[in-house]
Amino acid sequence: MRYSALNILRQGLTGNKGWKPLWRDPTPKPEYDIVIVGAGGHGLATAYYLAKEYGLTNIAVLEKGWLGSGNIGRNTTIIRSNYMLLGNEPFYEMSMKLWEGLEQDFNYNAMVSQRSILNLFHSDPQRDAFVRRANSMLLAGADAELADEAQLRRELPFLDFDNARFPIKGGLYQRRGGTVRHDAVAWGYARGADQRGVDIIQNCEVTGFQIKNGVCAGVDTVRGPIRAKKVAVCVAGSSGRVMSLAGMRLPIESHVLQAFVTEGLKPVLPGVITFGAGHFYVSQSDKGGLVFGGDIDGYNTYAQRGNLPVVEDVAEGGMAIMPMIGRTRLLRSWGGVMDMSMDGSPFIDKTHIDGLYFNGGWCYGGFKATPASGFCYAHLLAKDTPHPVATEYRLDRFRRGHLIDEKGVGAQPNLH
Ligand SMILES: Cc1cc2nc3c(=O)[nH]c(=O)nc-3n(C[C@H](O)[C@H](O)[C@H](O)COP(=O)(O)OP(=O)(O)OC[C@H]3O[C@@H](n4cnc5c(N)ncnc54)[C@H](O)[C@@H]3O)c2cc1C
Repeated sequence: MRYSALNILRQGLTGNKGWKPLWRDPTPKPEYDIVIVGAGGHGLATAYYLAKEYGLTNIAVLEKGWLGSGNIGRNTTIIRSNYMLLGNEPFYEMSMKLWEGLEQDFNYNAMVSQRSILNLFHSDPQRDAFVRRANSMLLAGADAELADEAQLRRELPFLDFDNARFPIKGGLYQRRGGTVRHDAVAWGYARGADQRGVDIIQNCEVTGFQIKNGVCAGVDTVRGPIRAKKVAVCVAGSSGRVMSLAGMRLPIESHVLQAFVTEGLKPVLPGVITFGAGHFYVSQSDKGGLVFGGDIDGYNTYAQRGNLPVVEDVAEGGMAIMPMIGRTRLLRSWGGVMDMSMDGSPFIDKTHIDGLYFNGGWCYGGFKATPASGFCYAHLLAKDTPHPVATEYRLDRFRRGHLIDEKGVGAQPNLH
């Protein structure tokens, strides 16, 4: 079923009885060509592009819980491609281009809204660093625009420009950045994959890998064993736990990250704004709530809830740049488990076990990567060679000393 204005009209006139479920609820088959573990954004996008780009449809996506119950439905919905390093920027710019055509591509309204992202800077050296980043973005074909203080005073008069500790000196705009309705992304990819014949199987936790003589021939699940020529793991915050079932230890730690939503307000924020002297990023949803977040909680956990000191820290970040936020009431908060890699960059790679592939280490920036991650993982699975924009996302890069360290601060688990 294609969605269109005509179809809405037809359904409206016939009592809305013709809408079909977005995906089937199939019984797992004993064998598939490819089994994808994890029906988050990345797993579903991988299945979609495998079917659409490579015509591979004998595929199952196995999900422990329900579709979209992980970070794809928990993030603060920000998309951008404002990276600096060669290993990253072309990949994220490809993702941005895929976002731009996504709704037409999978015929689903994901509310892609290129309302801009603005990274504030608070000192002259920080401005210089942002200029460098902007040049790097322009070289990769992305858009970048420097705004001085006078321009921002005109555009965003509610910001606290004269804050004694963190005066706002200007900002780096990426006008094509913005937000996307996060769970609609999961639903759109799931529907597109299902329509092409992919089996999406919920409540089907993978509990082990069938590995013999260095070859992975399938998975064990709570619904029985499933054989597969290729097994593609894509479980984000559960990466460490799931790959340990294959005897692998990853350069990844799991941490919790919280998100917050206020009561609905009249339109006040035109786009996404980030604080440059601490961790705080905010946008306004179409329903009016301010959606914001900050740093990870800072301890290893698999719990999808956070602690109060970080709530306070995030609120302080908000107050530092826009004191009026202190008058809104917080309605909701939640946490998600992040797969924090040690250089803040992800992995899309084969493992040393034949037939076993790994995608993870997305830290708290993997939502914006969803289309390119799915596209590049599908490429790797179909062709057994990395996609040209994802050649650096190798599992052995720490051993080789080829970190992709955007911040240049060395290995630590709070980068992205
Ligand atoms: C609060 C918060 C804010 C964020 N904000 C942003 C943002 O603004 N912009 C941005 O780019 N990124 C953001 N992120 C990060 C982004 O959401 C993640 O990097 C990304 O969603 C991870 O990929 P995914 O969608 O595939 O993960 P998930 O949706 O977590 O998918 C992984 C799936 O694997 C399943 N699974 C786990 N173990 C098993 C198993 N054994 N068997 C079967 N299935 C299994 C899980 O149930 C889950 O559904 C944020 C994250 C959080 C938590």
